[in-house]
Amino acid sequence: METYQLDPLFAELTALRGVGDALAKLMAKACAGNRVVDLLFHLPESYLDRRERSLIRDALAGQMVTLEVDVIRIERPQSSRQPTKVSVTDGSGFADLVFFRAFPEAKLRPGTRVLVGGKIDDRRQIAHPEHIAPAGQPEKFPSVEQVWPLTAGLFAWHLRKPIAEAVGRMPEGVPEWHDEALLKRERWPSFNEALRGLQLPTALPAPELRRRLAYDELLAGQVAIGLMKRRNRVRPGRPLQGDGTLRAKALAAFGYDLTDAQREVLHDIDADLAAPRRMMRLLQGDVGSGKTLVAMMAMLRAVEAGAQAAIMAPTELLARQHARTLAAISPVPVALLAGSVTGKERTRVLDGLADGSIKIAIGTHALVQDGVAFQDLALAVIDEQHRFGVNQRLMLGQKGEQADMLVMTATPIPRTMLLTQWGEMQVSRLSGKPAGRQPIRTTTHSLSTIGTVIEAVSRALAQGARVYWVCPLVSESETTDLAAVEARFAHLVERFGDKVGLAHGRQDTSVREAALADFAAGTTQLLVATTVIEVGVDVPAASVMVIEQAERFGLAQLHQLRGRVGRGSAQSFCLLLYADDMTETARKRLALLRQTEDGFRIADEDFRLRGGGDVLGTRQSGLPGWKIADPETDEGLLHMAGRDAEALLERDAKLTSERGRAIRLLLRLFDRIEAFRTLNSG
Ligand code: ADP
Ligand code: MG
Repeated sequence: METYQLDPLFAELTALRGVGDALAKLMAKACAGNRVVDLLFHLPESYLDRRERSLIRDALAGQMVTLEVDVIRIERPQSSRQPTKVSVTDGSGFADLVFFRAFPEAKLRPGTRVLVGGKIDDRRQIAHPEHIAPAGQPEKFPSVEQVWPLTAGLFAWHLRKPIAEAVGRMPEGVPEWHDEALLKRERWPSFNEALRGLQLPTALPAPELRRRLAYDELLAGQVAIGLMKRRNRVRPGRPLQGDGTLRAKALAAFGYDLTDAQREVLHDIDADLAAPRRMMRLLQGDVGSGKTLVAMMAMLRAVEAGAQAAIMAPTELLARQHARTLAAISPVPVALLAGSVTGKERTRVLDGLADGSIKIAIGTHALVQDGVAFQDLALAVIDEQHRFGVNQRLMLGQKGEQADMLVMTATPIPRTMLLTQWGEMQVSRLSGKPAGRQPIRTTTHSLSTIGTVIEAVSRALAQGARVYWVCPLVSESETTDLAAVEARFAHLVERFGDKVGLAHGRQDTSVREAALADFAAGTTQLLVATTVIEVGVDVPAASVMVIEQAERFGLAQLHQLRGRVGRGSAQSFCLLLYADDMTETARKRLALLRQTEDGFRIADEDFRLRGGGDVLGTRQSGLPGWKIADPETDEGLLHMAGRDAEALLERDAKLTSERGRAIRLLLRLFDRIEAFRTLNSG
């Protein structure tokens, strides 16, 4: 059986009976996808047990209830706009069944006893009960009912038939893709049985059913990653070796030795660079751990080997900073390429990259535009990767034949996300900070005490300290935030005069650059800023960070912002100002920041507090979401799937065995077949 037999599942929702464009749109919204298969995997979030009887007396408004009642009286409408009311009682109290249209007269004769299911309101009325059956025939009454996640305008009764049809489109007799022994041990039914049991239940489904499907989904993901890993292994790269002379010169110019942690990471990277296959390495380095220097060393190795290297940063601010840092220590020509580099300078840089006279390029996404050509790009470094989409990442790699890739992030990626979304990359961790750094003292202050905070800042300024003042995040839009930052700036200028600078995203690049340069040089001592300084900004002399309305920022973001201080040998401080009405979660976030500076711990916690939310902005990056599994709560299954996938691919990397062929169906079902196809074509 080949995967095309699953094609009926990949038709659009409108292919289902009774589903028109309008309904399909609503369904697509609820299912996060507009194909039959998306509906198929749109599982109920819970089930109603209709065998449980409620008493009218105890029923809560809005509750789904099943009542066993005697019909007392029928009150017919005076006009067509009024409803028919059927009064009922179960001895504990009275209720009305309300019908605005035709009502099932035959089932509701006064004096009979009936089972009624529906939603009861605060006036003890059930409008259009979903189920009515004679009390003597409970078998006519559905014993369980699915509660699917819905969206405004979409009701369960819309979904019932289309889902039944979708389940019916799943071919009978699909081969089993799991080992017999596993199924037995876990007491898992077949895929079709599990799906039926969850989507069209006749009894409350056992937890094994959902676990089986969650495992299916996780296994598909792990097999896909295993396939990509294997492709990377064979993908040719070029061995890059060097004699270390350029590195030694750069380190001498830098003035410090590598830290032990940097040395260790570099050791991994060197081994990758020297190997004849393409490097795909993710460097997770906590804020302030010194990733830039590691990147520089790696790039110089490429240059020692006679080739070129490039580093791409998410913002021009950061690219310029890297350019300054690297130019100061580089023994070979480096150049900046960003949107604002134009005219003659741009031509000079493009020529230099094309003829190979410029060895190291530093830039923004301007680096990956058409018309930028390298003579021989051997290493592409991507800084703060989570700001880039997958495509931009791939594009930089493609600027060089077989270019090695080093991806760096300061936002630690939670363990489970690494496994599920970065599994094909080798991972290095850079933790700790260069020697001589003291822990940052973090304190929290109510906004109502801002006066004392300003006094403290005033004393610090008098002692020559350099202070960042980050303004509240009013909205996600820089325009609205602008008002807040300008008001605060005016206020602080009134107090501290020309010691105060201003940096935000709406300024011209050159103005913002100048503000930052003034601050770095000490011309200004207090920099009022928005989150434009969040990522990567490096002014080692800065030692105080004030964040207004800290409760509005995410944990990872606060960690990043705080990481702008504590980069020199002086004692640094971080003051978090909060509004008194902050939520409990916000309170927990701030408490955690007081406790720890460990970015890996903060990331795990962040992930938990957000319920596995969008820590890294992966939603924009086009990574697939999970339909059934939750890698956090199903972590045990995830590890099992990882081992299972490895064992399978060890034996059958081309998926040609009987199980391998069944696994292809699994890949198709969960949208991972591309991993297999590209493997075969490339
Ligand atoms: P991040 O990992 O956050 O990008 P940076 O690369 O900006 O960190 O480095 C943080 C600071 O530590 C910078 O001021 C940098 O110059 C300094 N630094 C990096 N490596 C060393 C080292 N081996 N010895 C001393 N200072 C270092
Ligand atoms: Mg950095």
